[in-house]
Amino acid sequence: MKLTFYGAAREVTGSCTLIETGNVRVLVDCGFFQGASLAHARNAEPFAFDPKTLDAVILTHAHIDHIGRFPMLVKQGFKGRTFVTHPTRQLCKLMWIDAAKVMKDDAKREHGVPIYTLDEVFPAYQTLHGVEYGTPVHVKDDFRFTFREAGHIFGSAFVEIEAEGKHVVFSGDIGNDNVPILRSTESITVAPDLVVLEATYGDRVHEGVEERRELLKQAVKDTVKRQGTLMVPAFSLERTQELLYELNAMVEGGELKPVPMYLDSPLAIKVLPIYHRFPEYYNREAAELAKHDDFFQFPGLHITRTAGESRAIKLVPAPKVIIAGSGMMHGGRIMRHLVDYISHPENTVLVVGYQAAGTIGRAVSEGATRIHIEHQELEVKAHVEIIGAYSAHADQLKLLKWSISGSSKPKRIILNHGEVGGMEVLAGHFRDGKGIPVEMPEVGKTVEV
Ligand SMILES: [Zn+2]
Repeated sequence: MKLTFYGAAREVTGSCTLIETGNVRVLVDCGFFQGASLAHARNAEPFAFDPKTLDAVILTHAHIDHIGRFPMLVKQGFKGRTFVTHPTRQLCKLMWIDAAKVMKDDAKREHGVPIYTLDEVFPAYQTLHGVEYGTPVHVKDDFRFTFREAGHIFGSAFVEIEAEGKHVVFSGDIGNDNVPILRSTESITVAPDLVVLEATYGDRVHEGVEERRELLKQAVKDTVKRQGTLMVPAFSLERTQELLYELNAMVEGGELKPVPMYLDSPLAIKVLPIYHRFPEYYNREAAELAKHDDFFQFPGLHITRTAGESRAIKLVPAPKVIIAGSGMMHGGRIMRHLVDYISHPENTVLVVGYQAAGTIGRAVSEGATRIHIEHQELEVKAHVEIIGAYSAHADQLKLLKWSISGSSKPKRIILNHGEVGGMEVLAGHFRDGKGIPVEMPEVGKTVEV
C-alpha cells in the first residue's frame, strides 16, 4: 500500500491523502488550504493526480480544511463513490454552499475566478453516500474501511482501513474529552500497522472541562460588569453549537443573568437544524436534555439571520454577547464587530479555537497591539481571553492515549495536520516514551506501508 500526502503535510490545513493498493485508488479528505495569503492560489491549483482515476473518496468530517476542494474534484472528472457519515453528508452541503458564496464575493472584489460555483455544489453532494459508524464498507477488491466516532465535530469520524493484509488508521481530527453534545472518541479496534495522526495541538495540554466552563462564565460576567461587549469569534460548525449548549445551561440554570446574546453567523444558524435531525448522534446528557429542552434557545438569545439584523446589534446598548464567524477572524460578520469594539477596554474578545498562522485571530491571541481590518488600523484595547479547551482538537495527552488505544500499539506513526514545532514535540514522546517510529512527510511525499 502506498500513501501520498498532498496536504496538511507539515501544516494544519489542506488535508488530502491518496492511498493506492494494487488496483484501488482512494482519497482520504480533500480540504482547503487556509490562513496564509497564498491559500487561494494553492486551492485553485490542479490536483497532482488525475481525479478520474480515483475509485472512491472518504471524507472524515465536514470541516472545510477536510472537504473544501471536493467539489473541484468532481468538476475535474471524479466519478467514484464518496463515503461520509449521515450528519457529515448534510453538513458538507451547507459548508460547500457557504464556500461557494464566499469565493464568489472574493472573486468579485479581487477580479478573480471562484474555484467552484453554487451550481457545482449539487453534483458534488450527489456523490455522497451516508454510512453508519461501525459498519464495514467494501470499496473494491480487498479494500475495506470502517468509520469510528472521532468526537471532534458532529458526524466526525476516524477511519480504519484494511487492504493487502494491512491496517491503516486515519485519525481525521480527534476531539477533546467530555465535549458538550458529542459522544466520546472511540478507541481504535485494530492492531494498526500505521496510524496517520493529526497533531494540531501536539505540544499543548488543555484546561479541564470544569475550568473551561468557569472561564466562559467568568468572561461573560466580567464583560457584563464592565458594561462591555463580549465578542466570541467562533467556528460556525460545532464550536458555536457547543457554546450555545453551555450558555443555555448557565442561563436556564440561573448561573448567568440573561443579557442580550446574538448568534450572528448565517452558517451556524443553518447548522442548528442538522443537529436536531440527528439526536441519535448526541451523547447521553444531550440526548436526555433534548427530550424536553431546545438547547439552542434560551432567554436573551437572538438569532440574527439578515445583514440588517446583524447591523442593528450595534444599536443595542452593552452589555451584550456576540457569537459570530469566522473563528479565526479572517472574514465573516465578526470583522465588523471587531472594528466597532476591539479598541475599547470595556470589551472582550474571547478566543475559543485554533488560530492559523497569518490570521488576525493569531495576531490578536499572540498579543498584537494593532491590527488591520479593511485598510483600517485598529488599536487592540479590548481584553483578550483564550480558552484552549473549547478547541475541537485533542490535546497532546489525548493524542498520545488515543493513538495507542488499539489492540496493540501501532508499528509506525505518521504525523500530519500540525505545525512543525508541535509535531516535533509530539514525535519525541512517541519515539522516546513509547518506542514507536514517527515520520512527518512533506507535501507530495509517498510512504510505503
Ligand atoms: Zn476538523
